[in-house]
Amino acid sequence: MPTPAFPTLTDATPAALCVLASGSSGNCSVLLRRSERGVRGTLIDAGLSPRRTRRLLAQRGTPLRSIDEILLTHLDSDHFHAGWMRELDRGVGDLRATLLVHERHAKRLASIATPPQRTEYFDDTIHISGARVDAALLSHDQLGVAAFRFDFDGGENASLGFATDVGRPTDELVTRLHGVSTLAIESNYCPVLQRESPRPGFLKARIMGGSGHLSNEQCARTVKRIVPRERVVLLHLSRQCNTPERASAAHLGEHYETTVTDQHRSTGWIPISAALGAAPPLPAPLMLETLPLFGERQRSDRSCR
Ligand SMILES: [Zn+2]
Repeated sequence: MPTPAFPTLTDATPAALCVLASGSSGNCSVLLRRSERGVRGTLIDAGLSPRRTRRLLAQRGTPLRSIDEILLTHLDSDHFHAGWMRELDRGVGDLRATLLVHERHAKRLASIATPPQRTEYFDDTIHISGARVDAALLSHDQLGVAAFRFDFDGGENASLGFATDVGRPTDELVTRLHGVSTLAIESNYCPVLQRESPRPGFLKARIMGGSGHLSNEQCARTVKRIVPRERVVLLHLSRQCNTPERASAAHLGEHYETTVTDQHRSTGWIPISAALGAAPPLPAPLMLETLPLFGERQRSDRSCR
C-alpha cells in the first residue's frame, strides 16, 4: 500500500484528524495541526499497543517525533493500553510524548502502574502547540469521561469536537462543542440490535442506562443540537450491536459530510477547516444536567464494549 501523503495544512485547513482505529477493541486518533513549531501532533486516546500504533502512524505518513502528547478521554482499557506506561518512559522510537490525563483519573492511572515521568493532569483548559483545548467531564461509569473542544490557532473558527463514551447527551456537551467545524462523536449501538443481542442484562443496562454509550439516534439528535459546520465522524461502533449502515442512516440528508470509523481500518486524513459565517445560535437547553452526573455504579467492566 503506498504511504498516504502527509496532509497539507494551510490557513484554510489548519488541522487534520485521522482515526487510526475505533471500537471496543481499541481507540486511537491522531490530530495534526500547524503551529509556530511546524506541524505538531496529538494522539487522542492510546487504546492500541505501542507497536500497532507505531505501524499505523507510519502507514499514515506521520513521524513519531511530531507527536507531542497523548491526550486521554478516560482510562478504560480500550482507550489506554497499559503497554504505554512502560513505553513512554523508555521512548517508542522517536516518540517522546507527554501523557495528559484528567485529574479525576489520576488515582486510576496510578493503580495501573507508576505514571510515566512526563505525565500532566488537566482539569478544564489545556494549551498545546497550535491549539487551545477545553475539556468537559461527562458521565461514563464511575469516573466519567473527558470530551474535548480544540480551537486551532490562525484558522478562523477552525475547531474540532471530540466526544466518545459519553453516557448521555447533556447541555454541557452541546454548549461546549457547539458550532465546531468537525465533530467526532460516538454512535455506539442500535437499540433494536442491543435489546435482541445475547448480552447479559446488566451489560445492556450499563450501556443504555445513561452512563454508558450513545445510541445512533441519541448521537444524531445530539449532532443536530451541536450544529457542526462541515463534518461528522462517527466513533466507537459496537461490532455486535451496530452496523455502519445503521449508524450513518441516522444522518441522511443532513448538511454535513459523514465519516464512519472502523475497528480495523484507519480513516484517511479528515481536514478541519476554518468555518465561514456566523456561529449558529445555541439551541434551547434540555435541562438534562438535573440528572446526576455519574449514574449509579454498574458492574465493573474495564472495556466498554
Ligand atoms: Zn470505549
